[in-house]
Amino acid sequence: MSAESQTFTERYDLLGCIQCGRCTGGCPVTVRANLNVRRFVNDAYYEEKLDELARQAEIWDCTACHTCAVRCPKGLKPLEVLLGLRAMIIESGKVEPTVRDALQSVLLEGNPWEKSRAARSDWMEGLDVKIAEPGVPVENLFFVCCTIAYDPRVQAIAKNIVRLLNKTGVDYAFLDDSETCCGSEVYTLGEEGLFEMLVEDNTEYFNEYSAKRIVTLSPHCFTTYNVHYPDLNKPVIHYTQLLDELLKEGKLVWKGDLPKKIVFHDPCYLGKQGGVYDEPRDLLKSIPGAELLEFERCRERSLCCEGGGGKMWVESESKKERLAETRIKDAKALGADIVAVACPFCVLTLEDAMKGLGYEEEMRVAEIMELLGEFIEA
Ligand code: SF4
Ligand code: SF4
Repeated sequence: MSAESQTFTERYDLLGCIQCGRCTGGCPVTVRANLNVRRFVNDAYYEEKLDELARQAEIWDCTACHTCAVRCPKGLKPLEVLLGLRAMIIESGKVEPTVRDALQSVLLEGNPWEKSRAARSDWMEGLDVKIAEPGVPVENLFFVCCTIAYDPRVQAIAKNIVRLLNKTGVDYAFLDDSETCCGSEVYTLGEEGLFEMLVEDNTEYFNEYSAKRIVTLSPHCFTTYNVHYPDLNKPVIHYTQLLDELLKEGKLVWKGDLPKKIVFHDPCYLGKQGGVYDEPRDLLKSIPGAELLEFERCRERSLCCEGGGGKMWVESESKKERLAETRIKDAKALGADIVAVACPFCVLTLEDAMKGLGYEEEMRVAEIMELLGEFIEA
């Protein structure tokens, strides 16, 4: 049965819900917004209520963190109901200009940041980067991500990994300007037609490359490819998994030390959605002198930074404390010098919160690859 011909109840298995409320009980945004996902799962059963539900502003507060899906005892994905309601709004054309422009940019330029497709690999300038060619065998085919490719704040993730790969002799190649958005945010913003097109085009594109596996730099691309691209002919891993392999093979050697307390913030798309918890921690522990701390809310209980679910393009109406601010305050209370993350969105949201709180002098937010880059032997 096609998705279009299914009712909401069939598509999201709403009859499976026992209204236990564990989804809402675990939803992190309930402390700052009125979102009650259990109620949406309940009310979406009534077809006649769908238009009214889709008009409720709370559907845009969901960050797609997946806590509700992790907690649901019936294996449902409550957030998907909210995304289905977003899709109705997108279909009606009544969307925020920021959302409209981001989606238009993906369609025309292959990225949501309104940047030129031709500039996608400008970050490579001055670096010795191996570029993939269709049909030429390579072990690790890297996918950079739109945010890392264009945002100067997080380009160091890509630059440092190239420096590290060249040092270790790993067989790798990056894609050129033809790399296109994975559609993670397109999916969560509810643009189903555009997302289907991306899945089709990207699958065909990737399947032409003779690679052992695809390695993503962002957890959003990692989870999107693994969950929503059933016809990819190669596995997809996150770069922390590759580096952890190299670490265990004794191929990563760091120069210098970092006598600092580091706390790792689990990105929702890497941890809760991808099940990758240990590899980032092992990498941080490998830095000489570093002490790894843990948040009380860590791993599958980790707090969301509110960067996912299309929230980079949808302003929250709530003026209550942002979750990123809560996270930074928690890190300060722990005595952390560095909040380490493994996701470009987490860098942007947490760093913004840290600056807003005025902690810049005493604390730093850094992506793991940013930190490791400082310890690569010249
Ligand atoms: S956790 Fe699952 S079963 Fe319980 S109310 Fe939420 S959707 Fe329904
Ligand atoms: S995905 Fe996260 S923010 Fe969205 S409803 Fe579920 S728990 Fe709440």
